[in-house]
Amino acid sequence: MTRRATLRGEERTPLQEARADVLICGGSFAGLAVARELAGAGADVLVVDRYEIGERATSACAAPTDWLHAMGVRRAIRQELPCMAFHTPHGSARYRLPWSWSSFDYRELCHELWEQCDARFEIAKVASRGAPPEAVRTANYDITVLTDRGAISAPLIVDALGWRRVLGPGENVQPPDALISRGLEVHPHGGGVDLDCWIDRSVVRYGYAWSVPADGEQRVGVGSYEPRHHVKEPTKQMARRLDVDAVRYQGNWFPHALRPAAEDGVFFAGDSAGHCLPLSGEGIRTAFYFGIACGRELRAVLAGERTREQALAAYGAFSDEHAGAYRVMGRLQDWVPRVPPRALASLIALAGRRRPCSWAFTRYLGVAPPPETTGDLESRVPWRPSPTTSAGSSPA
Ligand SMILES: Cc1cc2nc3c(=O)[nH]c(=O)nc-3n(C[C@H](O)[C@H](O)[C@H](O)COP(=O)(O)OP(=O)(O)OC[C@H]3O[C@@H](n4cnc5c(N)ncnc54)[C@H](O)[C@@H]3O)c2cc1C
Repeated sequence: MTRRATLRGEERTPLQEARADVLICGGSFAGLAVARELAGAGADVLVVDRYEIGERATSACAAPTDWLHAMGVRRAIRQELPCMAFHTPHGSARYRLPWSWSSFDYRELCHELWEQCDARFEIAKVASRGAPPEAVRTANYDITVLTDRGAISAPLIVDALGWRRVLGPGENVQPPDALISRGLEVHPHGGGVDLDCWIDRSVVRYGYAWSVPADGEQRVGVGSYEPRHHVKEPTKQMARRLDVDAVRYQGNWFPHALRPAAEDGVFFAGDSAGHCLPLSGEGIRTAFYFGIACGRELRAVLAGERTREQALAAYGAFSDEHAGAYRVMGRLQDWVPRVPPRALASLIALAGRRRPCSWAFTRYLGVAPPPETTGDLESRVPWRPSPTTSAGSSPA
């Protein structure tokens, strides 16, 4: 069971300092990427989360290795995975990728990110936005957020709270009616060398199953694009199939549609903005990518180079530039479960050949390419592959 370090009950006293220059709500991938980008800006940055940093993982924790290097989190890497294997009831294909995945330890990764920040942290559960002030006198007037430890206000607010989009206007995102997928996995002891993926309708009608090895641990899970379809039985079925124990469950919802990244004076990054990619359900590197972009805009405001409204507009437009790529992946997500299984097996085998594999995965990484160095996000154009991904692939 996850050890619970979070303050409870009477220990959750009202916050001492209820104002900051930047308030980042959510201390996971997106929130920490924003905070890291603000290090050295000379601002009072406050990160709040309902749990301790790194306490609760909700992901298989695999990301492109180049991204983990760029974020300075090498210590967290557990296993590098240069190949993916795709399995259908009618055959399997093994792909050698033009870049590698790495599985990592969530707690360690969060701690490594936090070491690179100079922000304050408080445990608090965010409930909603406070009422807007009666008279708005300045361009960067404070916005108030209500938490279980009192109200906190700041002129710059980031919602990195995940799929629920707590600080969005109107109702929070609610399954099963939202454009959202669901995922569940188990973490038994185990092994493996590839990132395995099953597209098998006898396991999950609209979705896929995976196994991610992580140096002695095996993260076996199932994701369903149809939020009404439960994934517990399919996850147990996969564990039986792989002859591993169905132990240490963790699961969550993850979005498969973009939402406005700037709305009502608030910046949204990661799952709260729907930045998780449709089809693959990959949302860690996109949380980093958009978190960095958000952090840069906030920095420009803090430096007096932009107003908050200008930064919101620029960040919202940057996120929107990626809408085409998300649309394509969304269509693939709708299409793949409808392809006749034998045809799908043939397509998967064809796509695994060196050239199509290199082309497809280079473009896929190019949706949110890793910065060459931690300081360079010049390659902001959607679909433009990063130079670090140009190494050719070889047949597996
Ligand atoms: C089973 C599963 C496996 C996955 N595997 C992968 C994978 O291997 N690779 C990959 O790239 N993606 C994977 N994903 C998707 C990925 O986990 C998400 O896209 C990613 O976590 C998004 O990061 P985030 O920082 O935006 O949100 P989150 O990681 O969800 O972080 C939100 C943070 O906000 C905090 N929070 C939430 N509500 C409140 C509140 N009211 N008050 C205070 N704090 C709050 C949470 O405690 C958390 O720390 C997986 C998803 C699932 C469900």
